[in-house]
Amino acid sequence: MKYSDYAKWTNRATRWIEDHFATLRDKPVRAQTKPGEIAARLPTHPPEHATDMETIIADFEQIVPDGITHWQHPRFFAYFPSNAAPASMIAEQLTNAIASQCMLWQTSPAATEIEEVMIDWLRQAMDLPAPFKGVIQDSASSATLSAILTMRERATGFTGNDQGLSAQGRLRIYCSAQVHSSIDKACWVAGIGQDNLVKIPTNADYQMDPKALQEAISADRAAGHVPAGLVLCTGGTSIGACDDLPPLLAIAKAEDLYTHLDAAWAGSAMICPEFRPLWAGAEDCDSIVFNPHKWLGANFDCSIQFLRDADIQRRTMGLRPSYLETPQAQEITNFNEWTVPLGRRFRALKLWFLIRAYGLEGLRSRIRNHVAWTKELEAKLRAHPDFTITTDSRLALFTFQYTPKGGDPDQASADLLQRINDDGRIYLTQTLHEGQYVIRFTAGQFDCTRDDVMTAYDVITELAG
Ligand SMILES: *Cc1c(COP(=O)(O)O)cnc(C)c1O
Repeated sequence: MKYSDYAKWTNRATRWIEDHFATLRDKPVRAQTKPGEIAARLPTHPPEHATDMETIIADFEQIVPDGITHWQHPRFFAYFPSNAAPASMIAEQLTNAIASQCMLWQTSPAATEIEEVMIDWLRQAMDLPAPFKGVIQDSASSATLSAILTMRERATGFTGNDQGLSAQGRLRIYCSAQVHSSIDKACWVAGIGQDNLVKIPTNADYQMDPKALQEAISADRAAGHVPAGLVLCTGGTSIGACDDLPPLLAIAKAEDLYTHLDAAWAGSAMICPEFRPLWAGAEDCDSIVFNPHKWLGANFDCSIQFLRDADIQRRTMGLRPSYLETPQAQEITNFNEWTVPLGRRFRALKLWFLIRAYGLEGLRSRIRNHVAWTKELEAKLRAHPDFTITTDSRLALFTFQYTPKGGDPDQASADLLQRINDDGRIYLTQTLHEGQYVIRFTAGQFDCTRDDVMTAYDVITELAG
């Protein structure tokens, strides 16, 4: 295939996409194929000779759709959403065609400058103060790793990169048990170690206990350890836990700890003023991550890391070999210096299209609907004698158990979840909460309607039957 044939084949692909969206509601949400079934449809050896595009696309149509779990299905209520608003998809198609590697300002000034403006638009949309700058990363995991590395370098007087950690005291990082596993992984990768990620107990609302945090820090100092940072969460992955930030940030300030707030999912809701009390105090964090690819509507991948003083992270990760030097270094931003990977895609374009095509009001109204409909479903299930709400909704997430008389709730819930996902009309996933197997429900797909959420009630109660 040649570049000059692009329109022909992209039109062919577009016709498939149109049909895909027109029929999506009738497809099972979770893929129904068995392990190995898709791989078995591919030849085991690579072709020596060129295949024509018609055959390639026909094979795609034959083989791939069956093995897709439809994250853009309006009745996807599993995990957290991973959205792709149509306007953002169009931008992503343009990004694909431009295919620039945007590591330096010079390697595509538009990518860097639009990224800076989009970060600032979102900063304003969430009412964070002006000193916050930021960078677009591929995932919250990468942003969190960047923050943990920054904690490490700051606590070692910026000697860790040069000397390694063998001569250091044990660096200690604090979080609650409600944070995402990406915090643990960042501590593995950064050389901090799982044993030095201290999980602080929580109160009845699953918020980190400030007194326990202070005690842990004091005990660590007494033992000669080096407290380095505090990781907080707004909207933890399991049940949506939100730390009460101000008392924890006050301790971090007094103890000189760098702070990172993981709001990967819930951050998108902070474009709505009425939800901001959930992260009151966020403006005092050093680093905040949220994923527009989760709930805002931007195609995967798009994760925003806001930084109150970006120089600390640039000092941690800004490596400037001579082959990357460019003129104008004083006036421009080279975003590769803010992140672990050097190469970077033009991710800001999809935010520009997204925010303009729907406006902040359009994006807010979707999030508000998801929250309201989730609460409506929660109330209906609460009123049903065979169901128990195990954690109340936080934004658009609650958990429940199937608790029929005489049954074991864990087993009954696990069996019901399997029946639901084999049925295919909706898709839900589970978590382990306080040792119990609970089913999570979260609404957030861009085209999800109230009917879709109410269908979940019908499917859940019918299959519990
Ligand atoms: C989804 C999620 C993550 C991980 O996000 P990635 O972008 O996939 O790395 C981290 N933290 C929270 C709270 C999440 O919900």
